[in-house]
Amino acid sequence: MPTLLDGKKIAGDIKSEISARVQQLKDKGLRAPNLAIIIVGDDGASHTYVNGKIAACKSVGFDFTLMHFASTISEAKLMKHVENLNEDEDIDGFIVQLPLPEHISVEKVTEAIRSEKDVDGFTNQNFGSIVSKNQLIMPATPWGVMELLRRYDVPTESRHCVIVGASRLVGAPLAMMMSEEGHATVTLCHKYTENLAYHTQNADILVSAVGKPDLITEDMVKEGAVVVDVGTTRVEDKSRKTGFRLSGDVNYDSVAPKCSFITPVPGGVGPMTIASLLMNTLKAYESQHSA
Ligand code: NAP
Repeated sequence: MPTLLDGKKIAGDIKSEISARVQQLKDKGLRAPNLAIIIVGDDGASHTYVNGKIAACKSVGFDFTLMHFASTISEAKLMKHVENLNEDEDIDGFIVQLPLPEHISVEKVTEAIRSEKDVDGFTNQNFGSIVSKNQLIMPATPWGVMELLRRYDVPTESRHCVIVGASRLVGAPLAMMMSEEGHATVTLCHKYTENLAYHTQNADILVSAVGKPDLITEDMVKEGAVVVDVGTTRVEDKSRKTGFRLSGDVNYDSVAPKCSFITPVPGGVGPMTIASLLMNTLKAYESQHSA
C-alpha cells in the first residue's frame, strides 16, 4: 500500500513551528502577525474556507481582521478597501477570497495588493519571484505541494513531473517551482493536451489540479508513481448531513494501490494551502518589522 502524504499532519507540524515563533515575538513584547481577510457575498463554500483560515490564525496565535461585504459592493469601493489595507501598518498581509462577483475584475483587485502583503502569492510579482533568488512570498497552494513532498523526503530532482491543469493559481506556478526548486523535468498538461493518458503514464510524480472528479483513473498512472491530488469538488452526497462530500480529481480507490505515495482528499493539499498562508503571513510580518 502507498504511504499517505498526510497534509493534515504536516500542516499541524508547520503550525506548531509558527506558534513557537509567535510566542517568541510575544515574549519580546511585540505584537502578533495580523492577517486580514476580505470576503464578498454569501457563497457557502467561500465562507467555509474563510472560517478554516480564521481557525488556523487562532490556532497559531495570529490576530485576524475579517471584512465581509455584500455582493453588490462596487469594484471601486472594494479597490479602496484594498488600498487602505496596503497602507495599514497594523495589517501584515491580506487576502481577497475568490470567487468575486462577476462585475468585479479578479485581476484588477489582485494586482492592486502590495506584493509584500499578498500572502496568497497571487500577484504577478510573487508569481515571477519563483524564478528569482529573492523570493519572499510564494504562491500558497504550489508551495504547499512542494513542502509536503519535501517533508516526506520525496525526491523531485531529475524526476519527471506531470502536472494536469495549468491555471494561474496552481498548475502554472507549480510547474515553475518543480523546475526551479525541484529540478524536475516538467510536463504541463491543459485542456488542449491530446491523449492525456500518454503523458500521465510517464509521470514519476503526477499532480492533478483541474477540479474534475475521476479525471485520473488507474490506467493513467505508472506503477510506483507519486500522486498529488489538488482537485477539490463538492459532489452531492445525500448520506451526509451537509448533503455533499469533497472529491479530488483522482479515482483514489483504484489509483492508490499502484502508488508509492498519494495525497487523500480531504486532508492532503487543502491543509497545506492554509499552512502556506500562515507561513507567508509570518514572512510578511518579519519583512516589515525587524523582529
Ligand atoms: P481553474 O482555474 O478552473 O483551473 C483548472 C485548470 O485545468 C485550467 O488550466 C483548465 O484549463 C484545466 N483543465 C480543464 N479541463 C482539463 C482537462 N480535461 N485536462 C487537463 N486540464 C484541464 O482551477 P484552479 O483554481 O487551478 O483549481 C483546480 C482545482 O484545484 C479545483 O478543484 C480547486 O477547487 C482545487 N484547488 C484546491 C486547493 C487546495 O488547497 N486543495 C487550492 C486551489 C485550488 P482552462 O482554464 O483552459 O479551462
